[in-house]
Amino acid sequence: MSLFSAVEMAPRDPILGLNEQFNADPNPKKVNLGVGVYFDDNGKLPLLQCVQAAEKALMDKPSARGYLPIDGIAAYDSAVKALVFGADSAVVQEGRVATVQAIGGTGGLKIGADFLKKLNPQARVLISDPSWENHRALFTNAGFEVGSYRYYDAATRSVNFDGMLADLRAAAPGTIVVLHACCHNPTGYDLTPAQWDQVIAAVQERQLVPFLDMAYQGFGNGIQEDGAVIGKFVATGMNLFVSTSFSKSFSLYGERVGALSVVARDKEEAARVLSQLKIVVRTNYSNPPTHGGAVVAKVLNDPELRAQWEQELGEMRVRIKAMRSKLVDGLKAAGVQQDMSFITDQIGMFSYSGLSKAQMDRLKSEFGVYGTDTGRLCVAALNSKNIDYVCASIAQVM
Ligand code: PMP
Repeated sequence: MSLFSAVEMAPRDPILGLNEQFNADPNPKKVNLGVGVYFDDNGKLPLLQCVQAAEKALMDKPSARGYLPIDGIAAYDSAVKALVFGADSAVVQEGRVATVQAIGGTGGLKIGADFLKKLNPQARVLISDPSWENHRALFTNAGFEVGSYRYYDAATRSVNFDGMLADLRAAAPGTIVVLHACCHNPTGYDLTPAQWDQVIAAVQERQLVPFLDMAYQGFGNGIQEDGAVIGKFVATGMNLFVSTSFSKSFSLYGERVGALSVVARDKEEAARVLSQLKIVVRTNYSNPPTHGGAVVAKVLNDPELRAQWEQELGEMRVRIKAMRSKLVDGLKAAGVQQDMSFITDQIGMFSYSGLSKAQMDRLKSEFGVYGTDTGRLCVAALNSKNIDYVCASIAQVM
C-alpha cells in the first residue's frame, strides 16, 4: 500500500498536450498556432535588443546573487508602478500603491488571490466566459468558488456586453471580478472606453473587487492606450488589484517576470497591505529570483534602453496587426466566402476564429495547422512564410 495508491492522474494541460502533438507531427508544413507566444517573421522567439543590451551591462558589472527583498528589486517595483499607473500619477506620488515583484503574471495573480482569500474567505470570484484557462484553476486552488460573467457572444462575434453588465450587477458585494485589462485572451475582443465606464460604474455600485489582469500591455494599441483602463479605475478611488506580466512584452517568458500592484486608500493602508503581500510571498517561495527583474528594471529605468524597448514592442504590435490583415485578405483569396473581417476587429495575440472543434481537428490532422479546440489561433505565430499555407488550409475546412 503506497501513500499514492489513490492518486488520480490529472488531465494534461491542453496547450502543452497540443505542443507535444505538434512536435510529434511529421508534416513538414506544420504550423503551431496553439501556444500564446510571439514569434518573429522567421518563426523565431525573439531575444529583444534592449534585453541583450541590459544583460551585457549587467554582465559588465557582475554582482553577487544575494537574496532579494521579499517584495523584489526596489527599482523594479517603482518602474512597474510608473508603467502601470504613470510616474506622475497621484496614486504613485501619494504612495497609495503596494507593488511586489512576482513570478510572472501568474505569480502576481496568485499572490493577489492568496491575500484576498485571507481578507474575505467567503467571497466568490467571477471570471469572463471564456477566459484564460488558468484563471479558474488558480482562483479555485486558492480556495475560491469561481463563477463567470458572460463575455463572448459567438452568434454576433462580439462582446455580449448586456450580458456582462447584467451578471456584474447581479453579483454579491465583495465578489472579486477578474477583468482583462487589454488584449482579451482567448477571444481578442476588448471593451470600448465607453463600455469600460459602464463596467466600472457597475463594479463601484455593487461594491465588487476589481482585479485587472494585464498580461499584454503594449501588444494591443500601445503602452499608454492599453493601460488606460487602469487610470479609469484609479480615478474612482476604488481599491484595485493589477497583475502585470512581462513575459510577452519583453519576450522573457522563461525568466518569470511579473508583478502585483494593489491600490489602497492612503499611504498608511498601502504599507499595511504590502506587509501582508510580503507574508504571502515569504510563505510560498520566500523572495523572487534576481535575473529577470534586474533586466526589466534596467530597461525600464534607462532612457535609451527604454526607448529601444518601446520601439521593439511597437514592431511586435505592428507585425501582429499586419498578420491580421493578411489573414483576412488571404482567406478571401483562398476562396472563403464568409466575411472574415472580424479578425481585424480583434486585438492582441489571439483570434477567436469561429472554427468548430471538428474544423480544428481537421486542420490539425489533415494540414498540420494547430490551434485550440475552441478555435483560438495565435496570430502572433503567423509569418510571411506560413500565412498562405494557413489560409489555404482554413479555406479547405470551412
Ligand atoms: N494572464 C493572461 C490573460 C495570460 O494570457 C497569461 C499568459 N498566457 C498570464 C496571465 C500569465 O502570464 P505569465 O506567463 O507571465 O505568468
